[in-house]
Amino acid sequence: MKKTVKDLNWSGKTAVMRCDFNVPLDGDRITDDIRIQAALPTIRYLIENGAAIVLMSHLGRPKGEPKPEFSLAPVANRLSELLGREVKFVASDAVVDDEVRAAAKALKAGDVMLIENVRYRKEEEKNDPGFAKDLSELGDVFVQEAFGTSHRAHASTTGIADYIPAVSGFLIEKELKFLGEAVNNPQRPFAAIMGGAKVKDKIPVITNLLDKVDILIIGGGMAYTFFKAQGYSIGKSLLDEEGLELAADILKKAEAKGVRFMLPVDVVAADEFANDSPHDVYPADSIPDDRMGLDIGPETVKLYGDALRTAKTVVWNGPMGVFEMDTFAAGTKAIAEILAEIDAVTVIGGGDSAAAVAKFGLADKMTHISTGGGASLEFLEGRALPGIEVIEDK
Ligand code: ADP
Ligand code: MG
Repeated sequence: MKKTVKDLNWSGKTAVMRCDFNVPLDGDRITDDIRIQAALPTIRYLIENGAAIVLMSHLGRPKGEPKPEFSLAPVANRLSELLGREVKFVASDAVVDDEVRAAAKALKAGDVMLIENVRYRKEEEKNDPGFAKDLSELGDVFVQEAFGTSHRAHASTTGIADYIPAVSGFLIEKELKFLGEAVNNPQRPFAAIMGGAKVKDKIPVITNLLDKVDILIIGGGMAYTFFKAQGYSIGKSLLDEEGLELAADILKKAEAKGVRFMLPVDVVAADEFANDSPHDVYPADSIPDDRMGLDIGPETVKLYGDALRTAKTVVWNGPMGVFEMDTFAAGTKAIAEILAEIDAVTVIGGGDSAAAVAKFGLADKMTHISTGGGASLEFLEGRALPGIEVIEDK
């Protein structure tokens, strides 16, 4: 178990808290503040418990240089509104300078300040010890609350913990609880649903999960590489040539391990990659040469639904079809609806899967939606995340 903000006495201390305030901007207007809202419980807890708070984050890709369009100034304004108290923004192209240090020193219990985009400095992504030390000297304790960057060893996510003790905020605690429990101590039967575009990217995840799951369900663009590996003709469907051998290997491993490995039995295939393209449902082994599979079919939805209804834990990574186009969204929507209604722990990991669930209005029906696409994938691969490793154990 990792220490959280609840395991410390905050009185008289300053927290240096790494958040994920990488919000979408239209000019200096924040178009979606969900990431800011997500950090509020930890910030409020710290305020209520007598801490002063220095917040830091990255925003976009300024590539190690100050770029005004990536300034965190709009985030400070929005935070002030949401918290109902002033969040002081100390603008500095150097991120940390004497003015920033003086402002941090001057904070009293309950005061909150935000420093400039840590990626204004190239030292951030290099995990430069000098910059990490500069950040650490703004306070007494590092609070890790940015799951989405915890798979990167940067100065503000990892290096800082070489100088001051590290604990997690509530968001990280929740990620570790649900992703961690699901993968390492699941209620069984444990089913994983893997979809999305590329087999190659997800092979390590599938390989790791094969040791843990009872049922592995495949959908989306990666299904066709498995079909091809079994000798089916897949027409113009997505094929990951590099992943072919790996797919064959996985099919063998699943059998050897006694995992119930499920592939689509029918697919929706179209002439073109377009919402208005003519399309039909075909058995998985008879996709016409001039068509491409863009969604799972209704028979597959039924089969997958029956399997999922037996599960007590489900982890879902990757959509079942091209859900961005309404014509090919039915499979993904049906699976999301099944997960919404079953009596199981349901964990969504993966940026596009999370977007799909939100699009269908089912986000609040899931047990947990991971906030970190890349980070949750690496977590599911069984890899240690550097930004999580540095958090002290209880
Ligand atoms: P996640 O972000 O949840 O991990 P991925 O990034 O791996 O998911 O994959 C998502 C993408 O896969 C979506 O943009 C979706 O349109 C695409 N996709 C799903 N099924 C197919 C398919 N049959 N052919 C082509 N692309 C597909
Ligand atoms: Mg994605």
